[in-house]
Amino acid sequence: MVRIDGSQGEGGGQVLRTALALSLVTGTPFEMVNVRAGRAKPGLLRQHLTALKAAETVGAADVTGAELGSKQLSFHPRALSAGNYHFAVGTAGSATLVLQTVLPALLHAEGPSTLMLEGGTHNPAAPPFDFLEKTYLPLLNRMGPRVDVKLERPGFYPAGGGKFRVDVQPAKLQPLHLMERGRVLRREAVAQVAAIPFDVARRELVAVSAVLGLRPDQQRGEDLKRAFGPGNVLRVEVESEHVTEVFTGFGERGKRAEAVGEEVAGKVKRYLDANVPVGEHLCDQLLLLLALAKGGSFRTLALDGHALTQRETMAHFLDVKVDVREVERDVAEVTVRA
Ligand code: ATP
Repeated sequence: MVRIDGSQGEGGGQVLRTALALSLVTGTPFEMVNVRAGRAKPGLLRQHLTALKAAETVGAADVTGAELGSKQLSFHPRALSAGNYHFAVGTAGSATLVLQTVLPALLHAEGPSTLMLEGGTHNPAAPPFDFLEKTYLPLLNRMGPRVDVKLERPGFYPAGGGKFRVDVQPAKLQPLHLMERGRVLRREAVAQVAAIPFDVARRELVAVSAVLGLRPDQQRGEDLKRAFGPGNVLRVEVESEHVTEVFTGFGERGKRAEAVGEEVAGKVKRYLDANVPVGEHLCDQLLLLLALAKGGSFRTLALDGHALTQRETMAHFLDVKVDVREVERDVAEVTVRA
């Protein structure tokens, strides 16, 4: 039984999700204390509880501490099964994070799986659906498996109510090397509003485009059905020869549309200036996939707390070496070896 202190590093939900994912893949049971001790509302929130229950179902696991607010739990997987699954967060908690908890295991299962996920699809501090579809899954698919997603309905924080379908064809994960971004082929800013005045989208596009120098044909505003709202998301897609990155910002009450635009532009600019293929968020997510493949390498921005915490959590379950070398200011090379 592996013992993990959930307050390590970032001390957030990622420590738990990564532990669940790797426990399912390796069959190693674990106990966790101080679950999400580093967060303002510690313990299991609805999203983490749904992830835990999803992992319990997929791995026929024995679980203790599966309650809202729980700060201590144990997880013992018994048998991994492919199948048709339906997991609903029940609030606007991120459904993409629930998917990322069980997906590594389903990639190692005997047969194909289909999942319906319900909850938030566009949440702050979680991979938005567009990032999943355009950034994360194309790289995962390059490593061997075939995972397709289809958005049935967006779910924005705080309303939730989103829904998407996932089809998983498992295959052994092969190492991935992503050292170069290649030429930038396309840049596009997309501002979406649902039950929010369209002017908010327009102002975000003006602000983001001013910083990044985007032409009118590189900007798009979308007025979604009122019923999906209230919600407002601005994303910038940067499609390069070897990877597509998606940068996202969220409108909030009391936050000016211009500030949302400038914030997203700042993230894009940092990525473009560093001339790396892998952005900040992709980094910690890719690290896990490479560790499962027992090999690979990529160039990225200077590693943040999430990536370093990810490395620490992975070490409890997998015997892989993760080397991080800072090669220039804000440029790091990450190498994963068995
Ligand atoms: P909490 O404890 O509140 O659940 P957490 O520790 O789970 O927080 P984080 O560790 O901040 O949350 O991040 C969750 C995951 O979502 C990370 O893998 C991070 O890379 C990813 N993520 C966050 N924001 C984005 C974004 N804009 N685009 C893509 N991925 C994102």
